Amino acid sequence: MAMTSIDGDVQNLPEKYQEFYHTIIKFVPVTRIFADPIRTLAYGIDASFYRLLPKLIIKVNTPEEMGGILKVASSLKIPVTFRAAGTSLSGQSITDSVLLFATQGWSKYSISEGGERIALQPGIIGSDANDYLKPYARKIGPDPATINNAMIGGIAANNASGMCCGTADNSYKTVADMKIIFADGSMLDTADPVSCKAFSKTHPMVIQGIEQLRDEINNNNELKELIRRKFKIKCTTGYGINSFVDFHDPFDIIKHVMIGSEGTLGFITEITYKTIIDHEYKASALIIFPDMNTACLAVMKLDRQLVSAAELMDRAALRSVEEETGMPSYLKTLTPEAAALLVEVRAETKDQLRSLMDGAKTCLASIPTVLPITFTDVKHEYEQLWHIRKGIFPAVGGMRKPGATVIIEDVAFPRERLAEAILELRAVMDKYNYADGIIYGHALDGNVHFVVTQKLDTAQEVQRYKSLINDVCQMVVDKYHGSLKAEHGTGRNMAPFVELEWGKVAYELMRKLKQVFDGDHILNPDVVITENQLLYLQNFKPMPMADDIIDKCIECGFCEINCPSKNLTLTPRQRIVVQREIARLKLTGENPERLKRLEEDYRYFGDETCATDGLCSTSCPVGINTGEYTKKQRAQAMGDNGKSIGRLIHQNFSFVTTIARLGLSTASVAHSILGTTLMGGITKGLRSLSGNHMPQWNEYIAGAGHTPDPSRTKAGVPGRKVVYFPSCVSRTMGGAASGDKDQRQLSAVMIHLMEKAGYEIIFPRDMDKLCCGMPFESKGLFETANNMSSELEQALMACSNDGEYPIVCDTSPCIYRMRKVMNKKLKMFEPLEFIHDYLMDKLEFTKGPETVAVHVTCSSTKLGLKEKFRKVAESCATTVVMPAKVRCCGFAGDKGFEVPELNESALAELKDCLPADCSAGYSNSRTCEMGLSHRSGISYQSIVYLVDRCTVSK
Ligand SMILES: Cc1cc2nc3c(=O)[nH]c(=O)nc-3n(C[C@H](O)[C@H](O)[C@H](O)COP(=O)(O)OP(=O)(O)OC[C@H]3O[C@@H](n4cnc5c(N)ncnc54)[C@H](O)[C@@H]3O)c2cc1C
Ligand code: SF4
Ligand code: SF4
Repeated sequence: MAMTSIDGDVQNLPEKYQEFYHTIIKFVPVTRIFADPIRTLAYGIDASFYRLLPKLIIKVNTPEEMGGILKVASSLKIPVTFRAAGTSLSGQSITDSVLLFATQGWSKYSISEGGERIALQPGIIGSDANDYLKPYARKIGPDPATINNAMIGGIAANNASGMCCGTADNSYKTVADMKIIFADGSMLDTADPVSCKAFSKTHPMVIQGIEQLRDEINNNNELKELIRRKFKIKCTTGYGINSFVDFHDPFDIIKHVMIGSEGTLGFITEITYKTIIDHEYKASALIIFPDMNTACLAVMKLDRQLVSAAELMDRAALRSVEEETGMPSYLKTLTPEAAALLVEVRAETKDQLRSLMDGAKTCLASIPTVLPITFTDVKHEYEQLWHIRKGIFPAVGGMRKPGATVIIEDVAFPRERLAEAILELRAVMDKYNYADGIIYGHALDGNVHFVVTQKLDTAQEVQRYKSLINDVCQMVVDKYHGSLKAEHGTGRNMAPFVELEWGKVAYELMRKLKQVFDGDHILNPDVVITENQLLYLQNFKPMPMADDIIDKCIECGFCEINCPSKNLTLTPRQRIVVQREIARLKLTGENPERLKRLEEDYRYFGDETCATDGLCSTSCPVGINTGEYTKKQRAQAMGDNGKSIGRLIHQNFSFVTTIARLGLSTASVAHSILGTTLMGGITKGLRSLSGNHMPQWNEYIAGAGHTPDPSRTKAGVPGRKVVYFPSCVSRTMGGAASGDKDQRQLSAVMIHLMEKAGYEIIFPRDMDKLCCGMPFESKGLFETANNMSSELEQALMACSNDGEYPIVCDTSPCIYRMRKVMNKKLKMFEPLEFIHDYLMDKLEFTKGPETVAVHVTCSSTKLGLKEKFRKVAESCATTVVMPAKVRCCGFAGDKGFEVPELNESALAELKDCLPADCSAGYSNSRTCEMGLSHRSGISYQSIVYLVDRCTVSK
């Protein structure tokens, strides 16, 4: 890795930032501070359409560090911005000063009162919090659409909400207590009377300030009324000053006003939520109305006693998804005026659910609909309906013109005026030529989103956007007395309009509130409160074209959670951001030095540490596989030289696998002589001498594999034939590692198991020369990869009787590629699915009283095998652990040898996720298993070992 030391970059910073840096490195390790171009750019991005480049980024790990950093920042008057998952849309989590990440290391939680309370640190992902609460059939109240990505710090600081929580179960309504660090580094725990007392003593001015604001508001009836009225609907414009009306005690006010304060008043180190019931039974109906007015009439009849969600979609929104696979065909036949409402009911029992469905139908009986109202409680059916709703925003993003930005606005109107307001909103959009814009939203809360796409690279386009926003602001505020931001937070986007929405008196109070907590404006300045009336038109994110594969990226960050390199180098979103900046710099010719550094550093940060597993595509709303992009780049970098090497390996494949086998046999012999410690030490030294090209040995490095002898297999039950293709990985590395539990060869266990189930095994001819091409594809050697897979395809066609017999390959990533590129006639399986679909009914399982871990590889995840994995493993062991937090292992074929730190970082949490009595781990890819064993300290082998051990023939 060729990186300049941080000191070089720090020297280029303004003097006070240098002083800041030299002070904080006394208590924050320098390895968690970044000032280089690639990381300040990539880590600095959020999901909004604004961009700022931070000068310094710090991954903060503890409250003590955070307190210390804030103290130094305060004394030097250096602005800081807190960062959780960076999915904010209004520009509130970006800065050109210091960005403080509170993600890794902020994941502790505790559950109390039988699941009715949960205390969460800010780096916990919302859906993980809900997973922790599952055993209690409870969940947290806030439910933004980003719950699988957004973190508690961001959810609370934005007062984020979603389809069901409305204004009743958001963070404001469900916060019980909070631990906070203020701008001067002081800490407060609102649950601890001692802490509150101490805070009152050390910060009398804060307490007085709060009390004065409270009294000022409560003595002004008009203001009190305004506050009450505005918070009847969703509102995240400005501060949550309802805290001063709803509460009297200063500490109650403080913990509530922190909600929705977007990191401008203090840092939340822990929040305790009152949890809500997670209903077991759900049903949904997609109700189509002849027009928007009728749909809104229906909304007026519904309430949360009856339905938990009612999502409104205009015709343009429905049109954006109607071509997608699985969408109901009637969508295409709707008239241009039609509108839809997606309604959900939830209950604790089936009977209650039925009565809610009936209730909703009765309640809407007088409202004309295009089709009769039909609810479904069949999981995959109602999930399909929600797929329509969830697909709308990405569909617009995916269809936008090259170089255009997606802008999502978030307004709320009083529910009784929703129909009128939506029609007017559409007229405003049409007036400024946003005909492709769509409107949808959380109708029960009067909250609608409108999404438009446009370029923001010319003065005319910026003016067009300005006109749209100004008209929308006038309409929402003056005519409908609504909210300019209902749930996405004020950010930089609406900060210039807070006064317009709230009026002079309330805005002045908000300014005073900021003054009470952060007189020097060091906490996220300009967000919520700003003097800059043009802020919403400044610092737009550039959207240059970089490559077809990644151009559709909307920088939402949904892909980040799955990426094995997320804590080591870059996430998929960050890779794309860097590539966009490289493309922009190339296009403009601006700053060649910066371009050179970005290109150089990308080699390690973007390319070498990308596992090309493609797991990012599984959560990307526009389906981007950044791994494919990495492979394409590798192919381009390889050039003709690489292609020639690929051809040479292809022609001598059998020889190459023999050499690899020899290497592993030698290592195994050396280990038996030298022992684990000495062997590890020697290979570490050799790896360092080789410039990290030689693999580091460990006791879980596989032993040499072998190619099975086709003449030694048995006859099977008539009619049971299977083709077994041992992958080149198992032929070279299918031997057990010295630390493995079962010392048999993988291919031997495969054969034993299949024969036990009565199968006659057929092998392809010339197995030693065959390979699916996967190792070549990941290196960008597409030609060699395709040639190899074609040869294998022919061999499999021949020995499977033209696709009649099932084919099993012992390595899951190989099957993933084979299914992708080979003739669909071939019925191909990796071991787990073959066991599940073909062997389970032919074998007698005996469950062992043990705890085993299971790792579902990326390819198995993409093939949707998780539940089959669970079922097979649960037939063999009493307790099966499948740690949800452990996703791609980052071993990625040979990456685990070349860049072991990727595997180390990806599996950093594995050990802690495994119970002490976990005796072994199982998966279905030999290389992944090596990495898993090494990082967990327990032996991981193929699932076939477990099944073979626990079964006898029927
Ligand atoms: C496609 C898409 C859909 C979305 N849908 C919704 C939706 O349905 N509902 C909704 O409400 N939002 C939605 N959002 C917006 C966003 O996802 C949410 O507001 C989310 O809660 C932000 O969380 P985060 O972890 O990404 O926070 P970040 O973006 O990292 O930070 C959010 C704010 O919190 C501050 N902050 C972070 N941590 C702390 C802390 N510990 N203490 C104090 N301040 C802190 C930051 O400075 C920033 O101001 C959507 C975004 C996208 C991209
Ligand atoms: S790659 Fe996909 S998931 Fe990731 S930021 Fe881009 S659009 Fe979002
Ligand atoms: S392919 Fe894997 S490592 Fe590469 S960006 Fe996607 S998730 Fe990350």
